[in-house]
Amino acid sequence: MTQWDAIVLGAGPAGIAAATRLSAGGARVMLVDENTAPGGQIWRGVETASPQRIALLGADYLYGQHRVAALRASTATLALNTVLWRVESDGVVWLKTPGGLVRHHSPHLILATGAMERPVPLPGWTLPGVTTIGGLQILLKKNGILPAGPLLLLGTGPLFYLYALQCIKAGKRDIVMLDTAQRRNWLPAAKAFPHALTGAGRYYLLKGIGLLSALRWHRVPFFTGVSDVSIVQEPLHGGLVLHCRTGRTTRTFAARQIGLHEGVIPEQHVARSLGCAFVWDEIAAAFKPRRSAELESSVAGVFIAGDAGGIGGYHVAEAEGRIAASIILHRLGKLDATPMRQEQHAAQHLCQSHLTSRPLLNRLYAPSPEILTPQDSALACRCEEISCAAVREAIRLGANGPNQLKAFLRTGMGPCQGRLCATTIAHLFAAERHIPLEDVGFYHIRNPLAPISVGDLADFYQEQKHCLPAIQATE
Ligand SMILES: Cc1cc2nc3c(=O)[nH]c(=O)nc-3n(C[C@H](O)[C@H](O)[C@H](O)COP(=O)(O)OP(=O)(O)OC[C@H]3O[C@@H](n4cnc5c(N)ncnc54)[C@H](O)[C@@H]3O)c2cc1C
Repeated sequence: MTQWDAIVLGAGPAGIAAATRLSAGGARVMLVDENTAPGGQIWRGVETASPQRIALLGADYLYGQHRVAALRASTATLALNTVLWRVESDGVVWLKTPGGLVRHHSPHLILATGAMERPVPLPGWTLPGVTTIGGLQILLKKNGILPAGPLLLLGTGPLFYLYALQCIKAGKRDIVMLDTAQRRNWLPAAKAFPHALTGAGRYYLLKGIGLLSALRWHRVPFFTGVSDVSIVQEPLHGGLVLHCRTGRTTRTFAARQIGLHEGVIPEQHVARSLGCAFVWDEIAAAFKPRRSAELESSVAGVFIAGDAGGIGGYHVAEAEGRIAASIILHRLGKLDATPMRQEQHAAQHLCQSHLTSRPLLNRLYAPSPEILTPQDSALACRCEEISCAAVREAIRLGANGPNQLKAFLRTGMGPCQGRLCATTIAHLFAAERHIPLEDVGFYHIRNPLAPISVGDLADFYQEQKHCLPAIQATE
């Protein structure tokens, strides 16, 4: 088993910054990511993007090229195309690589696993042609692919507007935007406005205003206050039909593709499988891990940086990656206390500045009850095809929490291992039982975190058996 000073999981802005800093400080560090290249969500495909695609995706994307180049120039070992499927609290990390299963060990882990899109369990969300906007954006960033035919974008939040504009700039015209942001969010958002004008908040506000103005300038058909959404498939041509209400008007739209997006939430599975403690963040409407000022989780030696610790954007993700790295360098005896504290304070200051607009964004784009506690006919668990009606019925019959619900209905036991249904199930329990979300709890996350084959496991143990005499000989 290979030993490292630190293992960083996730090669997005947080993981790249952490690995680059650790390597510059003289640590032996391995950076793991399931993708074939570093970049994470925001800088996906940045090393191979054409100048046209870079121009389309903008300055934030271009900046990623420099960060990835700095990582490549460092001594950090990159384990790409590699999925972490099991991790133990003593620092043993099990990876699935293209060459088979391997184990590594480090006393310091940095989880920089980023965010995932909040599930949007509307009736019809599992139909062919209905996907997340993040998924559509991955096709654009990685392969320059735009959806064919009429496209409906439904949802709210920065990525909703950003992707629409990216499509328009790439030449797509047959788009209709259906905005689900609610008017009742305006007052709480307005209260957060003065704070959003401080620090770097102005930059995000200006960016948002620029985005909305550009969409207006391009005359993208735009409907606000959209609710009561359901999607069905046209029986004859297989196209999609979306029914909804805007105010008191009932509307119907036809499309070939529908993109859904209701904001992003921290990815929790790896940290949960380690037993890290989580708290419910009411304003962000999401669970986030409990972390010290040094970004250490409730499990000693396990740090959580970037969006996995709470949504903050790429500047915050990078700064947090540097904080975790400098603390680890200090613990390794490679960085004195004074420069470590200076680095930590500078990065914390940057985070504070870049987080001033977050309360406003969280309130303005807060998901509606329709998304959090969907109607009965919507599927809560799409892997096992379990409806919200069935979940409500099981709760009424006495299921005492998400884990017992698995025994009732097999929710969360399909290939995604509860990634997509966990928050919906938690909300349904909270609503039916009238209890706070923190009291509902969460699925116990079990290994494997990603699918692995029995053949992979057999090969791994076979190789271990062959290695045994050699290990004994050296001992
Ligand atoms: C779908 C989506 C699209 C986004 N697009 C934009 C955008 O266009 N512009 C913008 O400003 N912000 C965007 N964001 C927000 C952006 O992700 C954050 O601002 C920032 O990139 C967070 O950086 P990070 O390093 O914390 O995580 P990420 O950039 O998300 O990186 C996490 C990395 O960890 C890897 N990973 C996770 N689990 C495992 C595992 N078990 N094994 C191996 N690897 C693993 C992931 O594949 C990913 O590469 C997007 C977010 C999402 C969810």
